[in-house]
Amino acid sequence: MTTKPWSLLECCQHFSAAGIQHITIWRNVLAELSLTEAAKMVQDHALQVTSLCRGGFFPSKNASKRREAIDDNKLAIDQAAAVGAPVVVLVCGADRGQTLVESRQQIQDGITELLPYAEANQVKLAIEPLHPMYADDRSAVNTLEQANAMAEALGSSWVGVALDVYHLWWDPNLQTEIQRCGKQGNLLAFHVCDWKTPTTDLVLDRGLMGEGCIDIQQIRSWVEATGFSGPNEVEIFSNIYWADDQKDYLKRIIEAYRQHC
Ligand code: ZN
Repeated sequence: MTTKPWSLLECCQHFSAAGIQHITIWRNVLAELSLTEAAKMVQDHALQVTSLCRGGFFPSKNASKRREAIDDNKLAIDQAAAVGAPVVVLVCGADRGQTLVESRQQIQDGITELLPYAEANQVKLAIEPLHPMYADDRSAVNTLEQANAMAEALGSSWVGVALDVYHLWWDPNLQTEIQRCGKQGNLLAFHVCDWKTPTTDLVLDRGLMGEGCIDIQQIRSWVEATGFSGPNEVEIFSNIYWADDQKDYLKRIIEAYRQHC
């Protein structure tokens, strides 16, 4: 998604040529090609799939919509297994027609129902807490503390958390909560980008690392102190950067990563 204008094949070609070894696949690209083709594409370019984005969106006042969400998450697990993704990242969802407490309960219930399916397919589920500005419609899970508590309550090695600096950099308890999920073996993914001031779009104005106010190196040091050795994923959604030449942009990403992560 970081280089959204590129097809999966173009991502594989350019990432591989630049020495990048991992890729997260977003499900929208799977609408355009078969799972076998996608899996072959990443293998042919010696890339490992970090995760599949995204599942989730469990809460709804409407029971039939909650049921549809479970089915869609099962499909995401199938897709992850087929393309070799060990993790499905969950954007958990929210429904503003009900309380956040109700939405969180539906998220937990949804994941509970999915866990046997995740285990059967050997795919883990990562609860990604989102910044509170998305609490109305994208996620009722907004802090790492909430995500950790939910993962611990679910008590399965098939569920953990995804940590994105964009969503969590402001949290005074961040270091403690990183230690907590590290200790539980629940830290499944680490996403980096930067928070721009002013942010002009709540979704599509993420910054390159070093362009904003997040101390990524410090957060990374907390993450690695837990023993986390997974890839550090650059995840930038940006109308500005998507309008640029993607080859130049990829060079800037790599430079920014080397300097600021
Ligand atoms: Zn993320």
